[in-house]
Amino acid sequence: MTNVLYDGVFAPFSSSEKPFLLTPSGHVSYTAFTQLTNQFANCLVKNGLHPDDRVAVQVDKSVMQLALYAAVIKAGGVYLPLNTEYTPHELDYFISDAKPAVVVVANRVSEAVTPLASGIGANLQTLNADETGSLVRQLDLESTDFTAVPRSDEDLAAILYTSGTTGRSKGAKLCHRNLLSNAKVLAKSWHFTSYDVLLHMLPVYHTHGLFVATNLLCMVGGSIIFLPKFSIADALAWMPKATSMMGVPTFYTRLIDSSEFTREVASHMRLFISGSAPLLAETHVKFERRTGKMILERYGMTETNMSISNPYEGMRIAGTVGKPLPGVEIRIVDTKTGVPVPEGEIGIIEQRGDNVFLGYWEMPEKTAESFRADGFFITGDMAKQDKNGYITIVGRDKDLIISGGLNVYPKEVEVMIDDIDGVLESAVIGVPHRDFGEAVVAVVVPSDKNLDTALISRSLTGRIAKFKQPKAIVLADALPRNTMGKVQKAELRRSHADLFV
Ligand code: AMP
Repeated sequence: MTNVLYDGVFAPFSSSEKPFLLTPSGHVSYTAFTQLTNQFANCLVKNGLHPDDRVAVQVDKSVMQLALYAAVIKAGGVYLPLNTEYTPHELDYFISDAKPAVVVVANRVSEAVTPLASGIGANLQTLNADETGSLVRQLDLESTDFTAVPRSDEDLAAILYTSGTTGRSKGAKLCHRNLLSNAKVLAKSWHFTSYDVLLHMLPVYHTHGLFVATNLLCMVGGSIIFLPKFSIADALAWMPKATSMMGVPTFYTRLIDSSEFTREVASHMRLFISGSAPLLAETHVKFERRTGKMILERYGMTETNMSISNPYEGMRIAGTVGKPLPGVEIRIVDTKTGVPVPEGEIGIIEQRGDNVFLGYWEMPEKTAESFRADGFFITGDMAKQDKNGYITIVGRDKDLIISGGLNVYPKEVEVMIDDIDGVLESAVIGVPHRDFGEAVVAVVVPSDKNLDTALISRSLTGRIAKFKQPKAIVLADALPRNTMGKVQKAELRRSHADLFV
């Protein structure tokens, strides 16, 4: 029996001398990465890891962190990455919920985490960004050989907690089949080969940077320029050596804002991919004008991996996320009845396929609520599909505004506001209102400091129905975003909750 994910993703090039990771401090070949992985796997087993055990990891991005991920998979464990911004207080929830056998954190939080780990009998280790720590000190004693622990399609490979803007964060259970099948589909759909060099500036505790980027490039035997985080200076310096980049929309807006980002800098690149948050159609257009290349926008989520994408060959349409990827069944249904809506009408996206997770960790009720009887997962994203099959996301169902009993889809209003001269971007939210239940409020970031809110109101009059027009327009310096570039609408709703009550 094989270890499905390890054999599919990490094993094919494991004895190649080709560089797998290119970092500012040097190259790491596939062979060296495999040896490091094996040392970590031996070390984890000595520290008490058994198949199916969780390994909770809150460490900074580094070559060792990535080898630790591969080692957990190879040793038959379940990798549980945690956002590096979580405080020890927040870690309390994840650690007590997931009950990992091993916890790996940076030195700076190890003292605070010690009582938590000992409370559940977990083995606590440290790993720092500079590749020091208790786990690293044990590596030299370990063999560079390790036989992969057999794992089948349905065995758990990872638990990723959702960012949870409302309620408790949920642990999405991803199995070997989920992750391997998605890497295969993406490699084929986006034409990744061993010639690819991916510019990697994403965090590695999230599905985008961890699975989409890493699994895919490793599986095809490509190389990854592995940088700690996004910066314009690094992007400009490394891009001429890369063939492809995966980014969140903020990467692209910041690149466009830099006059040093030229057609020449991007000339070696065959593919720019964007996802995790909506890419403004305007960014798409400006990017193409600057570089002569069209960004490929795709859609996915922690629970489903990647499921919808614009095509590699064929029309990439700004403002849409493209069509369902091979093997992914998508339907857009009426929220209440679950019946598919007619073409062009808005409904909720449901999906089924090898990409879709197994359920939420120890939350049988939440899991049951999230799936239909026929196995389709209810994503919570509202969208419409045009006659050519292209899908446009219009926002989360929780962000839908019901004002005076009528539905207002924030995206429709945001697109109109963003079109107005002097507006950089906007977020439209619903806040409590005495008469209407909810009132539409627009939070607008101006690009021109003289922008007048009355002008925005005037521009919308006659262009959208009165009930969709904002009852208040608030100017702001910036929109609150998380590290993946998602606008934090729950935070905006909280801070504007008192406007009409
Ligand atoms: P996460 O689980 O953190 O990856 O977040 C998934 C959510 O991000 C989805 O449910 C969507 O709401 C949003 N999302 C991902 N990709 C896109 C995209 N290309 N356009 C709009 N929203 C997106």
